[in-house]
Amino acid sequence: MTTKKVTKVSGGGTPQTLTFVPTAEAKAQAGKFRKYAIILWVLAVVAQICAMAILFKKDPEIDLNTGTRVWLIVILLIDLILLVAGSFFWKKANRLVPASKKEAVKFFLQNQLGVVVAAIAFAPVVILAFIKKEYLVGAIAALFMVGGGLLSADFSPPSIEEYSKQSAYVQELMGVDQVFWTKSGTKFHLYEDCQYLKSSRTTEIFEGGTIVDAYANNPKIKPEISSLCSACERRGAKDKGWSDNYLQQVKDRAFGVE
Ligand SMILES: [Zn+2]
Repeated sequence: MTTKKVTKVSGGGTPQTLTFVPTAEAKAQAGKFRKYAIILWVLAVVAQICAMAILFKKDPEIDLNTGTRVWLIVILLIDLILLVAGSFFWKKANRLVPASKKEAVKFFLQNQLGVVVAAIAFAPVVILAFIKKEYLVGAIAALFMVGGGLLSADFSPPSIEEYSKQSAYVQELMGVDQVFWTKSGTKFHLYEDCQYLKSSRTTEIFEGGTIVDAYANNPKIKPEISSLCSACERRGAKDKGWSDNYLQQVKDRAFGVE
């Protein structure tokens, strides 16, 4: 999908230092995904406002009729779906254009923004429901807030630093940042004819690209070096004539102390 995404920053010395720079194409794609995310999140808040409008009119001492209650729950469900869909696009954008770990606050906010939105899209309606003594709706809204927050959180957030290290490591092994993966797999591979790539559903077409392409196109692959197929890693080292010991040294150097 995209071309080479890694530029060499400092030349000469070993170990080589590479800094991940997203391509203009990746940036444009990420921008589009962020726009989708924001639109969906705004609609989630609109859904919440609709639910709150119904609750505002309620007399705390008089129970809602079943029809209104069901309608409220449906609106909250729409709120949840919009929230999670927005977070899906937001996380996809982060995989294309990750944040830097050097800016800790920005890194946290960019990766976990969906959790913040989950609170914004549910906390007010939860509070209002309890004020209006509509406990069932309040409890469901609270449950949706927690569930939506968990689904929106990024438990393996991508970072520029990780991408740079992984790309440098793959290039050290193979010479180029080119990897292979399948749509349903959770690993990326260095060799197109890897036994695991072949054995995993022979009918499935696999794709090739940079590590970042793999992360952007398959959300099941965690953006971590543990996603590298270990058979491919050993084969790469063997082809280079490296001992297991030397491979470990290269890896330690690539991912070790910052
Ligand atoms: Zn493999």
